[in-house]
Amino acid sequence: MQIVNVGVVGAGTMGNGIAQVFAQAGYTVHVVDTDQARLDAAIATIAKSLDRLVRKERLSAAERDAAATRIHPTLDLNELGKCELVVEAVPESLELKTQILRKLDTICPPEAILATNTSSISITKLATTTQRPDKVIGMHFMNPVPIMKLVEVIRGMATSNATCATIMELSENLGKVPCEVSDYPGFVANRVLMPMINEAAFALMEGVATREAIDTVMKLGTNQPMGPLTLADFIGLDVCLHILGVMYDGFKDPKYRPCPLLVKMVDSGRLGRKTGQGFYDYSK
Ligand code: NAD
Repeated sequence: MQIVNVGVVGAGTMGNGIAQVFAQAGYTVHVVDTDQARLDAAIATIAKSLDRLVRKERLSAAERDAAATRIHPTLDLNELGKCELVVEAVPESLELKTQILRKLDTICPPEAILATNTSSISITKLATTTQRPDKVIGMHFMNPVPIMKLVEVIRGMATSNATCATIMELSENLGKVPCEVSDYPGFVANRVLMPMINEAAFALMEGVATREAIDTVMKLGTNQPMGPLTLADFIGLDVCLHILGVMYDGFKDPKYRPCPLLVKMVDSGRLGRKTGQGFYDYSK
């Protein structure tokens, strides 16, 4: 099956980046959101991002214009009726994602692949809500999508070899590096990253070192672009806590127990950059 028309459901942080990379790679993209303001903001963000690429001479002005004209925003999910692939990027709620996938299952052609950008929900569970579990797959893009090279391609229990091969090849067409991963809690990226962030929070709570020292040790000692506490603030402490909870519940293993300091910070509304306060202060 040749993929020409791609649907993106949810035009937020991830959805607008996903729409951009597909449009740049030559696909016709239909972006759906329930909120016109989010759609308008997504189109503006994509335009700014494409302009930046032109300024950096990584894209010609003609390529920018062509990519922009391939993106079609809409409030109507039914407009995805001709899409051979849909990537769902609505908020992280099992109920919402299930509802969207059920609708897509009736709207899209029977051969269409339904992908989800979920960070933590079981692909296997999402797939069972459709009549095509062999064509449901995880495409876990990283934030910011136009810059980050990785796509974790997550196979649910019923995902077919053909679906997986199509998505691996397509991800390469997007200029990304896909890695095939089985459907277990946290997949690979978060399973390895979140315990590191959690351990950094424990180290801070126990007074092993200051936040700056913990971040500097990890940055310079393990050659990471930013330390774990800075990264946690960037991701959102509520998001980190939620993913740790998914792994704790999923594996029933105490090694994933969330650090009480992390829990307390989330309880107090200190969620990181987005609230102006996390492990660091961003209010200024
Ligand atoms: P977001 O809140 O920025 O965007 C979600 C968008 O979905 C919003 O514009 C909202 O209006 C829209 N939406 C809500 N209900 C809808 C519906 N019924 N139909 C169509 N649109 C609807 O969220 P995000 O950060 O882009 O996250 C989206 C998904 O990507 C989540 O599953 C998240 O776990 C995953 N993810 C996020 C990141 C990240 O760093 N933000 C990284 C990897 C994966």
